[in-house]
Amino acid sequence: MSRIAFIGLGIMGSPMAANLARAGHQVTGHDHKQSAMDRLAAAGGRAAATVAAAVEDAEIVVTMLPDWPAVEEVVRGPGGVFDTVRAAGTEGVLYIDFSTIRPETSRELARTGAGSGGRVLDAPVSGGEAGAIEGRLSIMVGGEPADFEAATGVFEAVGAAFALVGPHGAGQVTKAANQLLVGGTYALVAEAIVLLERSGGDARTGLDMLAGGLAASRILDLKRATMLAREFRPGFRIDLHHKDMGIAIAAARDADVSLPMTGLVAQLIAAALAQGYGSLDHSALLKVIEGLSGGSAGSGGPAGDVPPAGRQPQGVGGGRPSAGRVR
Ligand code: NAD
Repeated sequence: MSRIAFIGLGIMGSPMAANLARAGHQVTGHDHKQSAMDRLAAAGGRAAATVAAAVEDAEIVVTMLPDWPAVEEVVRGPGGVFDTVRAAGTEGVLYIDFSTIRPETSRELARTGAGSGGRVLDAPVSGGEAGAIEGRLSIMVGGEPADFEAATGVFEAVGAAFALVGPHGAGQVTKAANQLLVGGTYALVAEAIVLLERSGGDARTGLDMLAGGLAASRILDLKRATMLAREFRPGFRIDLHHKDMGIAIAAARDADVSLPMTGLVAQLIAAALAQGYGSLDHSALLKVIEGLSGGSAGSGGPAGDVPPAGRQPQGVGGGRPSAGRVR
């Protein structure tokens, strides 16, 4: 069992930290939000007032933050993870970043970490809030094989499947592939809903049939009922998916490949953000798709809509902030 510092106790980080504590690890966490730290304390962890206070005694440091600027700030900023590890002389500490960020940031963190005697893994996850709560995430890891082996106890506590997919940054590229697939599936499920509803049949029964055939998918399984009911409480926010589509497009450019469907889905998600849906679940892509055909034919209304989130993630590609916003 290890002493683990956990920074970023949001929708995903909070249940992941709780699962680590449940598995017997000593978890000390930090988050901007006091409510998040209270949740950790209730789950058997300890709350720390600063990043440094969480990290100074840790053998393993974990982050689960919204975007790459937040990771940069927490890890490489003054009083951050690397500063603290250097000052405490706890060289050899294992740093696992579960956040979804740009692959190049993961590679830079690995280089800087190695310079401070640290070992770094990028380990973005898939499985959503439900997967985090159940400890059944899928974890895509980039880094050195020996460090991957050393992280096994952490991955077992939060994940059902985990694998080393390549060198530093490879976990993030794999997650980008995951996100383009998820975004594209949402777009097509939304189109199926619009077609079924506008054609006058029983859309609910129709979707039940689709979910039992070749079109079956986890998104159809988990989300068709809430999409039909126009319930869009996150879950995974549109603004975070917009960040991830930017990562996917930048990764395609780096790899010199053309991903036309990804480009289209990225534009639909950008439209969702521009229309003010950034703080809703990504299944709210349905609002954009039905808007193309003149609006909702379903139960409609703002059921499940939530107020705008605070801080917005930054864009990727060229290192410039995105023009994304939530109204
Ligand atoms: P979230 O916004 O719910 O949680 C992020 C937490 O980080 C918040 O509690 C926030 O207060 C905290 N935070 C931000 N900056 C901080 C700082 N500088 N210091 C301390 N705390 C800080 O986001 P989430 O949905 O938990 O997502 C986290 C990451 O996981 C993102 O990269 C996202 O893309 C990825 N992800 C999310 C899901 C999902 O379904 N929500 C699924 C897979 C991956």
